[in-house]
Amino acid sequence: MSLTRRSLLSTLLASPLIPAHVQAQLAQRTRGLPKLTIKDVKVITTSPGGRYQWVFVKVITSEPGLYGLGSASNVQQAAAVANAIETFYKPGWIGKDPDRIEDLWQYTHVRPYWRNSTIQNNAQSALDVALWDIKGKRAGMPVYELLGGKARDAVPLYAHADGKDFQALDESVKKYIDEGYRHIRVQLGGYGGGGFVAPGQGSRPREGFKAQAFDEDIYVETIPQMFEHLRVKFGKEVKLLHDVHEHLSPAMAVELSKRVEPYRLFFLEDVLPPEQISWFKNIRQVTTTPMAMGELNVNPHEWVPLITDRLIDFVRNRVSQTGGITAAKKTAALCETHGVRTAWQEGGDNDPINQLASYHVDLNITSFGIQEENHFPDMIHEMMPGTAKLIGGYLYGSDNPGLGIDLNEQLAAKWPLVPLPKGDIWTTVRGIDGSIVKP
Ligand code: MG
Repeated sequence: MSLTRRSLLSTLLASPLIPAHVQAQLAQRTRGLPKLTIKDVKVITTSPGGRYQWVFVKVITSEPGLYGLGSASNVQQAAAVANAIETFYKPGWIGKDPDRIEDLWQYTHVRPYWRNSTIQNNAQSALDVALWDIKGKRAGMPVYELLGGKARDAVPLYAHADGKDFQALDESVKKYIDEGYRHIRVQLGGYGGGGFVAPGQGSRPREGFKAQAFDEDIYVETIPQMFEHLRVKFGKEVKLLHDVHEHLSPAMAVELSKRVEPYRLFFLEDVLPPEQISWFKNIRQVTTTPMAMGELNVNPHEWVPLITDRLIDFVRNRVSQTGGITAAKKTAALCETHGVRTAWQEGGDNDPINQLASYHVDLNITSFGIQEENHFPDMIHEMMPGTAKLIGGYLYGSDNPGLGIDLNEQLAAKWPLVPLPKGDIWTTVRGIDGSIVKP
């Protein structure tokens, strides 16, 4: 600082026009913040209803009362994530400087040597988000301000409309339009809906699989009919999305992408499984239907070529599965350079801390496309004060410093993790011969 600026600041600070407590604050700010260390990390698990299997970390600093919260939720492997943080990651974090977010991200990334696993991503994301929360609280600002401030006034959401037939779907779509949503995902009865042979029906093997079976030919016939129906019923203004959940063989994925082109989708999601992403080149050659991909992404090698080769239009990473706010900002910057947009994944199992991590990034980035909605019952808002609110198709955080959310640990402790059901869960879908169809 030059002599002139320093003397000007001294003059200002000494001015009788500035109250003493403001002078003290200004003096503190111009000195920078005192050094911190990570004193402890608490791993908090809770299942407060529904499909929730939440794992949170509370990073406690050397400054009394200053802590940050992060999400490490992984609905299928919650206990494994909690154990990995407790026994492997936490001992490396204690004693470190929580201000050094980038350095601690890189440190955590290489600590297990084998990197880019789902469980590591959860641990790394949780720490990262908690550190941004701490930095925001220290600055007295919401995290989006530290990222560069708002690039939009609020975060637009897409809703999940669903119905087992066209009539039920119509009612669901109308409800969301009436609520103010401009973007609506339309499904015919959940995962693979519109493509199922009823239990016991169809030509089956003599012994074995008798339950509901997925058939891609039925699906590829039905879904374009659904869009035809919805465009006649609701017109062209509403932005329609659809999630294929990776159930198709690559050639049928190309076929469906072509067939829905006349209905001007906002995007078609996960038309291919992660193992077959090279087929996006074939899709690009035959149709302009916008492609979204990335809910199952774990490793940057999965999404980087899709973005840099401009093979998708929206990247769908879950922020707490791919490295937290730091990773989301970098992915968003890559998207911006290549004309791709973001659509961070949510889903009914997800938690309010991950939602807010997405929200703060969404508010700031230029490559924002849309945010998937996720809403929580009143008891979650009570357990986690500051949980974001959904109003008229937009998401609103609390604007409190940091992430703007807290966790009532006493309430969380009332709902310990519940064991997952034995046997098959929703990830198991089978064809009529009893073979697995990839989700
Ligand atoms: Mg999806």
